[in-house]
Amino acid sequence: MAVVGIVPAAGSGERLGASGPKAFAVCAGRPLIEWSLEVLAAVCDRVVVAVPPGYEDGCDRVTGGRHRSESVRAALQAAPEATVAVVHDAARPLLTRELVEGCIAAVRAGWDGAVAAAPMTDTVKEAGPDGRVLRTLDRSTLWAIQTPQAFAAETLRRALDVPEQALAAATDDASLVEAAGGSVRVVEAPSENVKITWPGDLRAVEAVLLARAAV
Ligand code: C5P
Repeated sequence: MAVVGIVPAAGSGERLGASGPKAFAVCAGRPLIEWSLEVLAAVCDRVVVAVPPGYEDGCDRVTGGRHRSESVRAALQAAPEATVAVVHDAARPLLTRELVEGCIAAVRAGWDGAVAAAPMTDTVKEAGPDGRVLRTLDRSTLWAIQTPQAFAAETLRRALDVPEQALAAATDDASLVEAAGGSVRVVEAPSENVKITWPGDLRAVEAVLLARAAV
């Protein structure tokens, strides 16, 4: 059984305001992506990274696509030996080994997919285009979905084999597997598994990483 890590890292990082792609912005002294790669490499047999054009130098890198899911598909195509695929966004550097292992264990137990998730702590409402609240959802059953997301690799390959429009609309890989009829479960993530989107996120994560290094 080959467990392959898939890291989509081909995004532009415009919202972060960095001069280059987000995954290569410096975070606590090293490129952001390296924090996740270190954890994935400890658990996976191999890790393939989808990078922006021009960043292909280095081992196991492929050119990413226009959308996140296209980048995942390109990286997975480069790993035909994968039986389990663990997709993780470079933008979540506080990944833990236990979380990756928890997702893989669920796939080994027979689920098509297992996704890191945080129970909703905010109240969630649906609003119309004019801002009018349409309804309040039942928070007790809602989860905010993150990465890592582990899948039976063949199931993910099939789920990614859809028209470009469907790939472009997907904000995570599990939704494509769900749409194809696959079984997906949530795995509760530690609260620190945040995603870096804005400059303030980068500073907050740096503080955690530097505090960890000081222990
Ligand atoms: O933009 P966002 O933070 O949602 O992107 C999530 C992840 O998908 C990031 O790690 C980003 O580098 C990656 N991505 C990609 N290819 C794209 C767009 C985003 O690999 N075309």
